[in-house]
Amino acid sequence: MINVKNLNKTYGRGEAAVRALKAIDLEVENGEFTAIMGRSGSGKSTLLRLIGLLDFPTSGEIYIDDTDISKLSDSQKTRLRIEKLGFVFQEYSLINEMTLLENVCLPAMCLNGYRSNDYRKRAVELLSVVGLQERLHHYPHEASGGELQRVTIARALINQPRILFADEPTASLDITSAKIVLELFSKLNREMRQTIVMVTHELEDRNYVDRVIWLKDGFVDTEPPSSGCETKLKIIDSNRWHEHMSSPQAN
Ligand code: ADP
Ligand code: MG
Repeated sequence: MINVKNLNKTYGRGEAAVRALKAIDLEVENGEFTAIMGRSGSGKSTLLRLIGLLDFPTSGEIYIDDTDISKLSDSQKTRLRIEKLGFVFQEYSLINEMTLLENVCLPAMCLNGYRSNDYRKRAVELLSVVGLQERLHHYPHEASGGELQRVTIARALINQPRILFADEPTASLDITSAKIVLELFSKLNREMRQTIVMVTHELEDRNYVDRVIWLKDGFVDTEPPSSGCETKLKIIDSNRWHEHMSSPQAN
């Protein structure tokens, strides 16, 4: 579903250049729930933005559903992003003047060929999936952080994306709300076979995912684990985690 070959990203030039990603190879299969983990500054958000078509690589190849992204024009890329990709970020970016239901409908309005009843019905269903069926006509200021993040998940799913991307989706939530959001991702993955790629630096989040891709200083740090249950978590060794997280740059 996602195939990345020798991906590099350098920000800036000359002495100010930062090599954020170095020769990244990875694949994400249909129906997988993958986490991208590593300490702050390791390149997680950069990688997510590149495979989410929100930024350009310096070099390397990205294929989404066998489409070579470098062959697409800007408008084709935008269309692919709206049709096939959904995004959840740490910030909710909801429109305060619109109800939760209207916010969820918004990405569907960007696509042609949708009759308003179709996407409205789906938005109501999605708000029910995320447990907000009673809050359809409320405004963002009437909801908690955890509820708002669940709205952004419904919004990200309105166009039935092939891939749901999330960058630190629980970073600004309390523990209880974070757990609800992670359980929701897990449920979407199990029950709707939603492919999810989530950036996180929370060690505990590994319990929710099929696979972890470790980044360290812009490199993929380990082999992807094989499909067996025990080996799935083999690459996450708590000693190494502390090594990652206790460095002064980590947050
Ligand atoms: P993470 O999400 O793992 O914290 P990022 O992908 O945000 O890491 O950043 C990777 C590296 O690239 C860091 O050294 C960061 O400072 C740098 N970086 C990120 N975005 C930019 C940018 N727009 N301009 C210059 N450097 C950047
Ligand atoms: Mg980041």
